[in-house]
Amino acid sequence: MVKSLQDTTMLSNGVKMPWLGLGVFKVEEGSEVVHTVKNAIKLGYRSIDTAAAYRNEEGVGQGILEGIQEAGLTREDIFVTSKVWNPDQGYESTLAAFDLTMNKLGLEYLDLYLVHWPVKTKYKDTWRAIEKLYTDKRVRAIGVSNFHVHHLEDLLQDAEITPMVNQVEYHPRLAQLELRSYCKEKGIQLEAWSPLMQGKLLDHPVLKDIANQHSKSVAQVILRWDIQNGFVTIPKSVKEERMIENSNIFDFELSVEDMKQIEAINDNTRVGSDPDNFNF
Ligand code: NDP
Repeated sequence: MVKSLQDTTMLSNGVKMPWLGLGVFKVEEGSEVVHTVKNAIKLGYRSIDTAAAYRNEEGVGQGILEGIQEAGLTREDIFVTSKVWNPDQGYESTLAAFDLTMNKLGLEYLDLYLVHWPVKTKYKDTWRAIEKLYTDKRVRAIGVSNFHVHHLEDLLQDAEITPMVNQVEYHPRLAQLELRSYCKEKGIQLEAWSPLMQGKLLDHPVLKDIANQHSKSVAQVILRWDIQNGFVTIPKSVKEERMIENSNIFDFELSVEDMKQIEAINDNTRVGSDPDNFNF
């Protein structure tokens, strides 16, 4: 059983990744993101999920450096994820985008680098570049995001390295059953984005009922459900009380019956784009 905010899952290459991290999509570059990341580290978070597309990598880097200094930690204590943005996909352009990301973050190495979306005709070249960054030891683990089973099957026909992570939209209304069994079979760690469905699930009666039974909030029940289902999860908040709430999920366990009730909420509804049909 996962017992603390610092507990990790082991990726297929042996690298340890925290089960819970902070997402920073829509957190503003500058003082907002610096403060949020620094505060998260102070509160015990050890994993930060950003992307070139979020336009806040400089502040994320600054927040990490200041946060570890204040907490008496080292760079190795923090797991940092970023992603290559769609217009930068392709072999040479991914290598260049990675350099820019690292310059902005101000870090020597990255923990996890992801293909942000499966841009048709490009993602295989992008993946070759990411494999090179991995073999050159510039990043400790590599993966993809928003890949359906068919994208993974296609990628694996040519890939030398199987992605260690697939970060996808995941919450009780999008249970990703097919992807779950496929990734389990291939040893690919799944990671949940928009785990709280961007706040749209917090009034759900079934979730409220389960939350009451455990004296927990709906957000805590959802995040606990993620981890019990084997998903790494990265809720976003800029508010200290919510960051604390979201990380306080290691002192209770959902029963088999709770898990079944939550599973029954699934109706394959997305809050983001379908990876088979996006225009960015
Ligand atoms: P989330 O599901 O994490 O929801 C975030 C929203 O919920 C914010 O409005 C936040 O507001 C609010 N919130 C957070 N905690 C609570 C709480 N305990 N109670 C009530 N409201 C709460 O959505 P995101 O889309 O941000 O997803 C999380 C992360 O996943 C992103 O930040 C990003 O890192 C990643 N992501 C990746 C994508 C990809 O394509 N790979 C796509 C989308 C996201 P407030 O901040 O005001 O507290």
